[in-house]
Amino acid sequence: MGSYSERNGTDGTGDAMTDGTAGARGAAGEHGGGGGGGGERAARRDAAVRAAVEQGLLGPGAPLVGLLDVTGVRESAAALRAAFAEVTAPGTPVLHAFAVKASPLVAVLRLLGAEGIGAEVASPGELALARAAGLPPDRTVLDSPAKTPAELREALALGIAVNADNPQELDRIDALMRSAPSRSPLGIRVNPQIGGGDISSTSTATATSKFGVALRDEGAREWVVRAYAERPWLSRLHAHTGSQGIPLELLARGVAETYALAEEINERLGRRQIDTLDIGGGLPVNFGSDAESPTYAEYARLLARTVPGLFDGRYGLVTEFGRSLLAKHGTVVARVEYAKSAGGRPVAVTHAGVQVATRTVYAPQSWPLRIAAYDAKGRAKTGPEVVQDVAGPACFAGDLLAEGRALPLLEQGDYAAALDTGAYYFAHHYAYNSLARPGVYGFVAGGERAADGSGGVVFATVREPQRVEEIVAESGGAHADALTALGSP
Ligand SMILES: *Cc1c(COP(=O)(O)O)cnc(C)c1O
Repeated sequence: MGSYSERNGTDGTGDAMTDGTAGARGAAGEHGGGGGGGGERAARRDAAVRAAVEQGLLGPGAPLVGLLDVTGVRESAAALRAAFAEVTAPGTPVLHAFAVKASPLVAVLRLLGAEGIGAEVASPGELALARAAGLPPDRTVLDSPAKTPAELREALALGIAVNADNPQELDRIDALMRSAPSRSPLGIRVNPQIGGGDISSTSTATATSKFGVALRDEGAREWVVRAYAERPWLSRLHAHTGSQGIPLELLARGVAETYALAEEINERLGRRQIDTLDIGGGLPVNFGSDAESPTYAEYARLLARTVPGLFDGRYGLVTEFGRSLLAKHGTVVARVEYAKSAGGRPVAVTHAGVQVATRTVYAPQSWPLRIAAYDAKGRAKTGPEVVQDVAGPACFAGDLLAEGRALPLLEQGDYAAALDTGAYYFAHHYAYNSLARPGVYGFVAGGERAADGSGGVVFATVREPQRVEEIVAESGGAHADALTALGSP
């Protein structure tokens, strides 16, 4: 095994954080339709910002928070389930496994779990989060390109589904299967090598992507077929064609290629050994407006048109959406500490920068964010738009949340909100300058609560803000003497 190529899984560059070289815009743009309650969502967001100020979650002593719209998260989960229910034959098993990396917060995972969504995990930490949220093994899927023997052993002992990334990993799974039986549904991840999208760092199906078995490489397809022939317990096939920046049609092609391979394997084996297809995630998010576009329903219908056999009941389905479930429901809100001017350009110095919006700051062309301006009381700011910079707190010149953006002029004590940041933003802290992780609060707004004097908004703590003592402890505070005690030679 492992002979079809010397380079399996060792190609490619992995640093999604800093690779924004594609230079294309990340925003999917508005191609009409599928408004998805954008107006209501915006109204809930405005109410939440105001209530966060009024209730003291946000203010001079707490100048940065992440807010999560619980109603919106529930709506997206329901929309996802409905979209696939609409196109699948009755009785088809469908598991929507949320890609935990998009929002690694225990309460979020439990909320999604309550909405019938499982978890796709890609590290021991993510698996621990899913378990802490109470998600059962049969609703958990482990994918990662670098699973250790210990991780594999744990997953197989728990009965968690595992997709082997490469031949060497399959060797390890072989050994584990010989030593102890497992209930885990097992599959292989393939890379259909159909090309990338607008953002290279989130394109996983390029010719040299580091993920999965590169299907078009010489000998690879034959190797995959043989791998299934030799292992009756391999029952799944997995591909995740990419994330933000991948057009729907390309995602659908990745699914079509995966389906065709499953059909070929089952046919050549003369049995329906592959019974479940894991089609990955990657639905792009529109960062350009409040419209939800494309929608899950649009994607599911496109798949039903282009890969009809996928839904006729012969295959169970697993999906792994991340960004599209959470992005629109999160908002980073930061106080304007100082408002200044440099070279004729107004600059609002806020508390949200590279530590919470790492991709946007390092690759602004690929990951632009909308910014909303609120006044010191948390009310949406009106007034003439002024071209200004919205800067973060970190000590490097490029720490800008938005550069040259036309907004009502931000003044000292106002708030700047980075919109659509519910996935891959405030939950993904980057510890530059030892800046503290912000608190994250879920909220429910409106309805019958509107009249009770709370501003109509109720908050719940999802994650406490990080304390300075925690920063010291996590930075080796307990080992202060470690280096001086080594002495000198
Ligand atoms: C990141 C990832 C996903 C989720 O991608 P989104 O763009 O957030 O939907 C799904 N599956 C795998 C294997 C991933 O790595």
